[in-house]
Amino acid sequence: KFSQLNLPKEFLTNLETLGYTKLTAIQQKSLPLSLDNKDLIAQAKTGSGKTVAFCIPIINKLNIKNFRIQSLILAPTRELANQIALEIRKLSRHIHNLKVLTLCGGTPFKPQVLSLSHEAHIIVATPGRVLKHIQQNNIDLENITTLVLDEADKMLDMGFYDDIMEIIDSLPKNRQTLLFSATYEKNIEKLASNVLLNPVVVKVENEEKVHIKQKFYSVEESNKTTLIPALISSNKAKSILIFCNMKITCDKLADDLYNLGLDVLTLHSDLEQKQRDETIILFSNKSYPILIATDVASRGLHIDDVDLVINYDLSLDEKIHTHRIGRTARAGKGGMAISLYTHNDYDRVELIKDTFTDIQEESVDKIEDDLSYKIDSELRTIFINGGKKQKLRAGDILGAMTAGIGLHKDEIGKIDILDFASYVAISKEKISFVLEKLSKEKIKGKYYRIYEKWQNKKGDINCLKIHYFLK
Ligand code: ADP
Ligand code: MG
Repeated sequence: KFSQLNLPKEFLTNLETLGYTKLTAIQQKSLPLSLDNKDLIAQAKTGSGKTVAFCIPIINKLNIKNFRIQSLILAPTRELANQIALEIRKLSRHIHNLKVLTLCGGTPFKPQVLSLSHEAHIIVATPGRVLKHIQQNNIDLENITTLVLDEADKMLDMGFYDDIMEIIDSLPKNRQTLLFSATYEKNIEKLASNVLLNPVVVKVENEEKVHIKQKFYSVEESNKTTLIPALISSNKAKSILIFCNMKITCDKLADDLYNLGLDVLTLHSDLEQKQRDETIILFSNKSYPILIATDVASRGLHIDDVDLVINYDLSLDEKIHTHRIGRTARAGKGGMAISLYTHNDYDRVELIKDTFTDIQEESVDKIEDDLSYKIDSELRTIFINGGKKQKLRAGDILGAMTAGIGLHKDEIGKIDILDFASYVAISKEKISFVLEKLSKEKIKGKYYRIYEKWQNKKGDINCLKIHYFLK
């Protein structure tokens, strides 16, 4: 239990309100050591609670009065960095004025310089961008006491080794370093031996049983697309993540599914960062039931409650396969993962099948297409052109929606607040009502522009109607 850890009372109370009572296996193994300032190499599969495992010691150790950067967390992608920052904010709600700053590529550089000049306690960054700030002397790392490398394996896969080493060269030697990874291979060993000091290795080997059911179908390349609606309906899936190996396949599949009557989101690295952020919001707040993605999306991202993963293209290796199917069994929730393969994939199929014991091979003739099954999301997304920089909080928006215009709490889904914009999932029946009423309602004393936000299948950002202009 968290309460058995040596943490301040307010911290424990906050953890409790967040619904964290029992430690996951990796937290149980790592926290006593990391809270004791030890260097760690921690390995556990995706979804096992590694973020909380490294955020707790960071927050616990922080000297809030010392308004200097005390922790640096490196993560492979901007999406992941944002999720980590969010988790830190949640976990530190009992501490006032804790400042977390994210520094990632794909966002303007200058505002980051300005933010850095205003100081922060914790930096969450992608290696490339933070290195650029270091090289330009924008960032003071002298007070760093903790370095975290999250998804270290992924960062190495992405070619960040040299950047990471250069960043570490400018950090104080006397610090705690925590390395987290889903896999542990030679390259991680090399990184670890250069960066960590007498590290303790903690591993959780598939301890919590993952309840992912896996089915494999041998198919013709030309039949793959038409199988998708059948696979969705036969599994009664409501939130579906489809993986393709290439961007071009994603786009083609999105087009084809659109022609079959399914509107989908796509996520791959050709899209601008802003579109990628929005795509993830629209998918994880359940405004769109289907997301087609390349492996950019398969690592680290925390997308809740995906009930079906479809490998439209078989993964290039078993490691990638593991990460993909892991999207459907987060924190112990069960799920289904379906893989399609063609005669070209036979060698890889064998390799992947050897890695898992529970794969069921099925014939496509066995798929029971349920024609009455309708896949549509109950929710749609409202966009508000104000966010953190306007000091909007979820409570303000919730208040305006409920007390303000009379929506029931059940009609409101996830609220995402970015720097300059907020996204609110709303029951689709209530969309026009909200658009009409909320445009005439102040949120925290101000009027905002309210649109319905949707993306077409190309990931372009569209605003259906602009209902209100700020006067
Ligand atoms: P990982 O980094 O290992 O892939 P995450 O840190 O993204 O996994 O955690 C997956 C999910 O588990 C998150 O929704 C997180 O809030 C939840 N979680 C983490 N620790 C606990 C816990 N002790 N009890 C319940 N849920 C937890
Ligand atoms: Mg993680």
